[in-house]
Amino acid sequence: MKLVATSSPSRLLDLHCSACGRAYSAFDLQSVSPCCQQPLVATYDVAAPLSRQAGINQADSSMWRYGALLPLLDDANKVTLGEGFTPLLTLPRLAARYSLSSLTLKDEGQNPTGSFKARGLSMAISKAKELGVSGCIIPTAGNAGVAMAAYCARGGLKATVVMPRHTPEAFKEECYWYGAQVELVDGLINDCAARVRQLNAGGRMLDISTLKEPYRLEGKKTMGYEIAEQLNWQLPDVLLYPAGGGTGLIGIWKAFQEMKALGWLAPDVALPRMVAVQAENCCPLLETYEGRQPNCHNYTGRPTLANGLAVPRPLGEQMMLRVLQESNGIVVAISEEDMLTGMRELGQQEGLFVAPEGAAVWMAARHLLTTGWLRADERILLLNTGNGQKYMSNVAGRAWA
Ligand SMILES: *Cc1c(COP(=O)(O)O)cnc(C)c1O
Ligand SMILES: [Zn+2]
Repeated sequence: MKLVATSSPSRLLDLHCSACGRAYSAFDLQSVSPCCQQPLVATYDVAAPLSRQAGINQADSSMWRYGALLPLLDDANKVTLGEGFTPLLTLPRLAARYSLSSLTLKDEGQNPTGSFKARGLSMAISKAKELGVSGCIIPTAGNAGVAMAAYCARGGLKATVVMPRHTPEAFKEECYWYGAQVELVDGLINDCAARVRQLNAGGRMLDISTLKEPYRLEGKKTMGYEIAEQLNWQLPDVLLYPAGGGTGLIGIWKAFQEMKALGWLAPDVALPRMVAVQAENCCPLLETYEGRQPNCHNYTGRPTLANGLAVPRPLGEQMMLRVLQESNGIVVAISEEDMLTGMRELGQQEGLFVAPEGAAVWMAARHLLTTGWLRADERILLLNTGNGQKYMSNVAGRAWA
């Protein structure tokens, strides 16, 4: 049976293997591609004309305004808490301090559950509901588990969250309040993934691991649509993103491609150079990018204040490297001490209490300005992916250097 979108504007066509391009049905439950065991990626009909006016629901001030380019087929299955359409803030005091002509920050810390994970999980849980799933399980460094717990509660699905024991208390506690079952594991997210395989050996729950499920990526890509719309269909010269599993990096780049194909971005609008920012304590992408390892398969990372970046073996490594290659991007790794410096600076200069991940992004910009890779007259866009409040137990008392 071929389902078609009747009660949503979705132009979803099918799913493609990110490695070999083979097509799969978007109307059945899917995990990684059976052909290559790599992420599946949703495709849309972007050939048929669709103006920005017709393609965006102006009445909706959440990420769901881009429903035509999202995979939900029946709006009745939408599980939403108002995620997305977060503010794009200028950083005038920091710009002046570093003589920058254009410095902006998209503040994803203002999302429900305090991070941009809300976008991905709102989408994934909506699709899970649409496809008849009754329970979901996730290995997480923190924020994804919190978001999954919230959206499962909201959608009436059971939630099982597996996170490292050392995760700051606020993440665990919030999951409990959403009624999720929480399992604590000694180790990092890859150890949690092994525990998920054990717990879900019978396959009764849907595994919502990063990129093992095709729709979190679709939620994350809405950041790309918003950035373009908020900049009046211009784009920055450089976009810096804190990369763990990489869904934001890959998703934003996917959005730019879709908008080019749709004609929403004029032919003379250049796409930004994409910067993947990692933690020195866990930087598998940097090691591969700089040729010190063939890939991340045997990388072992250490915990970091930026727990979203503690992803030693990201399934989407190849996809991230492709984005960096296509965009003339680069990878930068930031120390724990520098993350705290960045948090202080964004707090004291701009009134923003950002996640260490967001602070790392700012410090990466500072670093790239000193190397000359980034010029002070370029339009720089930082993504702050989370709210600092969640990390309180790890940063309390360190506001002063
Ligand atoms: C998960 C997370 C990241 C990394 O996102 P990926 O999509 O895994 O690359 C960055 N920052 C925060 C705050 C996160 O929670
Ligand atoms: Zn394949």
